[in-house]
Amino acid sequence: MEDFSNVVIIGSGPAGLTAGIYCSRAGLEPVLYMGTKYGGQLMVTSDVENYPGYKDPIMGPELMEQMRAQAERVGTKLIQDDVTEVDFRTYPFVIRTPNEERRAMSVIVASGANPRRLNLESEMRLMGKGVSNCAVCDGFFFRGKKLAVVGGGDTAMEEATYLSKLASAVTVIHRRDSLRASNALQKEAFADPKIDFLFDSVVTEVLGERKVEGVKVKNVKTGDEKVMQFDGLFVAIGYDPNTEVFRGQLDLDKNGYVLVRNETETNIPGVFVAGDVRDFRYRQAVTAAADGCKAALDADRFLKEPHQVTLLQA
Ligand code: NAP
Repeated sequence: MEDFSNVVIIGSGPAGLTAGIYCSRAGLEPVLYMGTKYGGQLMVTSDVENYPGYKDPIMGPELMEQMRAQAERVGTKLIQDDVTEVDFRTYPFVIRTPNEERRAMSVIVASGANPRRLNLESEMRLMGKGVSNCAVCDGFFFRGKKLAVVGGGDTAMEEATYLSKLASAVTVIHRRDSLRASNALQKEAFADPKIDFLFDSVVTEVLGERKVEGVKVKNVKTGDEKVMQFDGLFVAIGYDPNTEVFRGQLDLDKNGYVLVRNETETNIPGVFVAGDVRDFRYRQAVTAAADGCKAALDADRFLKEPHQVTLLQA
């Protein structure tokens, strides 16, 4: 039998769970699909020191557990399942998982984005122990230290210039001999006396047992390999937003992020978006949570107001 909901929330990071809290408290009885792995990027983050309300650092998984429990306490129905198909061409909308089908009067897409990995075993082992994907989150822990940033795009340049204010030195390691980043960001990074560049180079191993002590770097032109000492490694090679399931229905930008208008709206009235799945700029737990709040308030307004749903052409 088909289930029916006022609001379905897709995603269980700070954006989705905050949307759950607000929708529950508005009496909308939301259903939230958590994915089979819940919690988003904070599940692989150690100390979180920049989420307000916690005087002492809190571990990422502990913070997500608190948010999950809070959402559940106020009445969000959490389902640990992956959304594998949606139909926004029909109204009420249809959401399918391998185990059920649900109809919804409104949907909040908060499915997040995954940082790209170098796919090294040592990178994953030392994630949160010196390997990071977020300078704003973790740079503070590396004051006065020697750091490496991998990548040649805008994110890598922003990470490097942010970190140079805190670290003693930053080396950008890039796989080609020219950067992909915009001219303005390149210029800023090149002008920074604390940043140097290692071109045509890839990290082949992150060194250290309990924390990062250095990296093995290979020159892709000569094949030469060398060891370099670093206290931290910031992998900034881009993000993949989790939007595959919405392709062809929600408008996406060239990088796959959901295109947003008027704060939380998508091209489909009644489908709202929140968090990293649409935000490549801020990517913070607190900005995602704020986005989830806005999407919930907008969904509530949508459900209360008389509206005409314009359906996509099938
Ligand atoms: P990006 O533009 O895709 O750049 C990723 C970088 O990582 C590229 O230099 C790429 O090398 C490198 N890379 C990818 N896979 C790699 C691998 N396996 N090993 C080593 N290096 C690898 O990603 P992004 O910098 O996150 O930017 C994403 C989008 O957001 C862009 O459109 C960007 O303009 C935008 N953005 C804008 C701002 C801003 O305007 N302030 C800030 C951040 C991001 P190649 O160059 O060789 O491909």
